[in-house]
Amino acid sequence: MIGTFLRWRHARTFLQSIFLGLAVLIMLDGWFGPQLAPLNLAGVLPWVHWRGFVVLALLVMGNLFCMACPFMLPRRVAKRFLPADRVWPRALRSKWLGVALLILFFWSYEAFSLWSSPWLTAWVALTYFVLAFVIDGFFKGATFCKHLCPIGQFHFVNGMISPTEVAIRDPAVCETCTTKDCIRGRYAPGFGTEARTRGQGGRSPIRLDGVDGTPALAWDAAPGRSMGREGLLQGGCELALYQPRKEGNLDCTFCMECIHACPYDNVGILVRSPARELVRDPVRSGVGRISRRPDLAALALLIVFAAFVNAFGMVEPVFALQSWLAATLAVPWEPVTLVLFFGIGLAGVPLLLVGTAASASRALSGGKGTLSDRICSYAWALVPLGFGMWAAHYLFHLLTGGLVVVPLFREYLTDLGLPGGTGPMAGTGAMVPESWIFPLEVLLLQGGLFLTLVVGYRIALREEDSGRKAGLAFLPWAVLATFLAGVGIWLLLQPMEMRGTFQPI
Ligand code: SF4
Ligand code: SF4
Repeated sequence: MIGTFLRWRHARTFLQSIFLGLAVLIMLDGWFGPQLAPLNLAGVLPWVHWRGFVVLALLVMGNLFCMACPFMLPRRVAKRFLPADRVWPRALRSKWLGVALLILFFWSYEAFSLWSSPWLTAWVALTYFVLAFVIDGFFKGATFCKHLCPIGQFHFVNGMISPTEVAIRDPAVCETCTTKDCIRGRYAPGFGTEARTRGQGGRSPIRLDGVDGTPALAWDAAPGRSMGREGLLQGGCELALYQPRKEGNLDCTFCMECIHACPYDNVGILVRSPARELVRDPVRSGVGRISRRPDLAALALLIVFAAFVNAFGMVEPVFALQSWLAATLAVPWEPVTLVLFFGIGLAGVPLLLVGTAASASRALSGGKGTLSDRICSYAWALVPLGFGMWAAHYLFHLLTGGLVVVPLFREYLTDLGLPGGTGPMAGTGAMVPESWIFPLEVLLLQGGLFLTLVVGYRIALREEDSGRKAGLAFLPWAVLATFLAGVGIWLLLQPMEMRGTFQPI
């Protein structure tokens, strides 16, 4: 049933339309509804439901929320009416900008208490729509998703532990395929022929530039650039991921363009071993080798450490720390103290801990190479642990406040003069008994730790000459992961500030 639905040409548009409708409701309620967060869709749906369902989807399926992303619908209109012909500057074709925007997102979330301001949440959503529209209206391909979108970067990295990926079914079919529609797109007869003719020429050049100029890498047929949109029947991958060389979920928005473009039905959403892609390090189409990309390692580490900093921002001890920082710095404005807080939590502490683990790992195993190389290789092992912490945190909010949406929608309908039913207009909204929450959180965190240890050891086996050296190289990373998991348990034991519900601390 799912396969049939996904093969439907308008499946993504259908899902996006539902989310676009929800986004419009959120913005309207955010601007014109009550400004108490638990009484407003903008205070509840994005911060309680969306985040909770995002981690659930990543855990059991994959990057479904990029697939259904509503910001991409107006962008499609932009591609039609704006030139969309500029190539994203080469200097910006990395994840550094995405890292900076993600930090900005985390900081503004706390600094402006976005979760408690429906009005600001509505403006954030509108800003997102405008940015996606403008950036992709002037630049080729999915520039916004690949290089800028903070939410997308979060999904890309955490999607690496998902049990599915968009992949080819049979490599032999791709070997004999001459059109490579999965990346070039499918054209009407008479259009895009230059690329096809040249595409049948043989195996000389080994790269293909994606539509935004990002190398798709390791292309073994022939070169070709985007042939433009004239005569285009079905777009190919706009994120420069060439299916036969694609590995894992990094940079994949699950947009399904390649699935629809492949003339041989050779691409699908396939089940795989979760987190396996964290261990493997081939040259990935559109990405390269992840162990050679400091920007990607920085993104992965940011997302891991932000899981702990984000949860720390909601527990009681943080308020004492913030007061102390404000008094010490004599700056009463919270956003300024938060810069320091995030600087320590997302840069100072990670550099210290990861740098120490990398040094110890190199010293113990007698390994060569720079510390940066070692960090770029082993940073990926921490992703499952970070995801475990995000999942524990976000599911806590969803499970403790998810049902608050029922009276909210009822109130919304009543406000519109529609029959909304009766019942209490506010409540705690718990979805499961309270006693279930902590064991579930611990299970998620410990599951993440277990996967981190497995992945870390297998990375060490890949990087070191012998099993003994691998064990020694892995040891400091195992200590770091166990320490972080301990910090996670401590955080989960703290009274957590409730968001989106009326429950007291
Ligand atoms: S995925 Fe389909 S279009 Fe792409 S190379 Fe393979 S067979 Fe060709
Ligand atoms: S077209 Fe590219 S981004 Fe979209 S699902 Fe296929 S590989 Fe992923």
